Amino acid sequence: MTSNADRVMIFDTTLRDGEQAPGCSMTQPEKLRVAKALADLGVDVIEAGFPAASPGDWESVHSVAREVEGPIICGLARCTRDDIEKVARALRPAPKHRIHVFLATSAIHRQYKLNMAKEEIIRSAVEGVKIAREYCEDVEFSPEDASRTELEFLAQVVEAVIDAGATTVNIPDTVGYTVPHEFAELFRYLRKNVSNIDRARLSVHCHDDLGMAVANSLMAVVAGARQVECTINGIGERAGNCSLEEIVMALRTRETFFNARTNIQSQKLYPASRLVSSITGMPIPRNKAIVGENAFAHESGIHQHGMLKHASTYEIMRPQDVGLSRSALVLGKHSGRHALRERITELGFDIDETEFARVFEEFKALADKKKELFDGDIEALVLKAEGQDQGPWSLESLSTASGLQNATATVSLRHQDGRCIERSSSGDGPVDAAFKAIEDITGINPSLQKFELRSLSEGEDAQGEAIVYVNFQDRSYRGSSATTDIVESATRAFLEVINRIELSQKAQAA
Ligand SMILES: [Zn+2]
Repeated sequence: MTSNADRVMIFDTTLRDGEQAPGCSMTQPEKLRVAKALADLGVDVIEAGFPAASPGDWESVHSVAREVEGPIICGLARCTRDDIEKVARALRPAPKHRIHVFLATSAIHRQYKLNMAKEEIIRSAVEGVKIAREYCEDVEFSPEDASRTELEFLAQVVEAVIDAGATTVNIPDTVGYTVPHEFAELFRYLRKNVSNIDRARLSVHCHDDLGMAVANSLMAVVAGARQVECTINGIGERAGNCSLEEIVMALRTRETFFNARTNIQSQKLYPASRLVSSITGMPIPRNKAIVGENAFAHESGIHQHGMLKHASTYEIMRPQDVGLSRSALVLGKHSGRHALRERITELGFDIDETEFARVFEEFKALADKKKELFDGDIEALVLKAEGQDQGPWSLESLSTASGLQNATATVSLRHQDGRCIERSSSGDGPVDAAFKAIEDITGINPSLQKFELRSLSEGEDAQGEAIVYVNFQDRSYRGSSATTDIVESATRAFLEVINRIELSQKAQAA
């Protein structure tokens, strides 16, 4: 099917703005996994990180640039030669890359954050874009806090950076302050008052502080923006960013209204959303648009009656269009490779033979413990398949005993360097005792912030997922694990946290 609608580029910043959000930090292999899913989804640009922030960030951007094919790989920089050189070096292996430079322009940022006059802002922005152009043809500029910048000054900045060679100009609503009509006016103003505006692509970047990130982005598209910056599940600073799945499905469902379309493979939205949620530990609210568990559930009798007669009575999108193909089909011990393979594909995952072999093995082991395996169980198996060998510590054995007064746990861990250590501890319950034994073995004592348990599917023998949130040396970490035994899940989740802490200490030392 061909369409005359205008193409809107999707610029994904899950790995930069999204990852910056509290509790959403990802390890380098996790970032790579997300980047591959984004490429698969068909995003046009992946903003992989802010290389000047730390050596670990540089390394992550570099690995995405090296290993992910398809989209333009982008890195963020302030308007300084040092930042821009770091981005340029990190991006070098990517055949298509973009340098994104930013500088705040609003009065409040000029005065309190930068202590710079208007002329200095323009000079510095122009200089940043020119330096970036020395390394790269594709340069994006963002006037940070654009939505609170004086219109006339904003137009001057935009004109100057386009003259200096910016090929994309992004207008961020950094603090989530604007409202749809006002924001559309801002875009119209720029298109009318910036003489060279046609030489650059206009982009939009919204935050959700007042719950209008998607609406504001859509109005920017109406007013001429042809790139939208967004994140999977809307994760991001504070209330988050414009949600990728919502903007994509709004443009798709109302294509004739917006006269705009994206290149996204919408049936991969749901698996991508689940992947990011499982990696970051940010749960998806049940009623979240597009990817929430209830997004396509019809409960009321009148709705169900209508749905049975004709789905379009109450359904504006089909669940399979976003990759949701729930079925009542239950797998079990006697299900073969073929049935599992098919179910995984129907759930929207695309895994290779090695991964499948691993998932199948785990599937068999789980089917021995649990009679029926539902979609939630299978998703969990696929999602954890790659993330398993994250070491350095692995669990060798665990035994616990508990009574009403106290509990004890004996834990044995193996380190990649060959050590195998066993310790026993007591505590207020078996989970507490196991955590103490692990702290004893590893010498890492994080402070526990939150501990959650939830069931992944149905039935008495459902897998229990444990999620552990801790703080350690001013950083927050999380770990999760799902097994049919909640004490084991909790122990594995805590061990994942310990591994993350040890890995990030190593990365910082590097
Ligand atoms: Zn942002």
